[in-house]
Amino acid sequence: MAQTLWTILALIRWADERFKKEGMATPRLDAEVLLAQTLGMDRVGLYTHYDQPLQGDELARFKQAVLRRLRREPVAYILGKREFWSLPLRVTPDVLIPRPETETLVAEALNVLAPENPKEPVILEIGTGSGAIGIALAKELPSARITATDLSPKALSVAEENAAQNGVRGQIRFLQGDLFQPVPKGETFDLVVSNPPYIPREQLSSLMPEIRDYEPRMALDGGKDGLDFFRRALPAVAEYLHSGGWLLAEMGAGQVRQVLEMAAKNPGLDSFGFAKDLSGTNRVFKARKKG
Ligand code: SAM
Ligand code: GLN
Repeated sequence: MAQTLWTILALIRWADERFKKEGMATPRLDAEVLLAQTLGMDRVGLYTHYDQPLQGDELARFKQAVLRRLRREPVAYILGKREFWSLPLRVTPDVLIPRPETETLVAEALNVLAPENPKEPVILEIGTGSGAIGIALAKELPSARITATDLSPKALSVAEENAAQNGVRGQIRFLQGDLFQPVPKGETFDLVVSNPPYIPREQLSSLMPEIRDYEPRMALDGGKDGLDFFRRALPAVAEYLHSGGWLLAEMGAGQVRQVLEMAAKNPGLDSFGFAKDLSGTNRVFKARKKG
């Protein structure tokens, strides 16, 4: 009986079938991306070499990658990388995989700074994770000085490496600690930006296994109602903003009313608003320090 010849096309089809059976969202794409990485090619390279058979070691490495994916490990962790704002970032299980929605937060940050046009914008990012937001802002605003914090020392070392890889290490100061605690007393900013954990704790167990079983709990768990960050940060943030400075924070679908109620309790803040992500969901909360 003829043995299967494991060509590129045959392997894409095999992995695609396995992934489909498991009900994964993007089976063919995952198969192609993992095979391309195994072979050190891009996806177009696969299409132009469909009939190429794999060498023994390539086949073994591809099978390993497929097995990891079948255990629901996110593709970004298997590859060890993810693009954000068209910048290459290394990601490890110590950091949240940056999401496309979060690009809305970066775009909105650039929008609110544009009319003020500060010469050397000073920005505080809370909970930097992979460094995605801070690094994107540093790239867009070469004169900006950014302080990026995280509770997780392991996340901070990934973020530092990503800043260096993207040529903006000199623009970003990384500090470890809880919310505003690591920020030296008396320092104020044009912008405080954060994608905090905002998932209500009881919803964590019903998330997709890719998120629930692999991404850092500390990056996702927003407390009982998901709003712990807002509850704690809103009363404190004015102390860290210049007059007229902005707070921008990512939030979850359906949190609009509660976030507004909490914000309204802070007499130092006004100009509340929301920005929608590409799916039309209110995703970014905005508030301004009066003055
Ligand atoms: N900024 C990254 C992004 O958008 O991809 C990561 C965002 S992730 C949703 C939230 C991050 O906040 C995690 O890296 C987590 O470790 C950090 N974090 C959670 N609680 C924190 C706290 N109390 N103070 C500082 N950072 C915190
Ligand atoms: N958007 C993330 C998700 O997919 C949540 C990240 C967060 O809590 N900031 O669940």
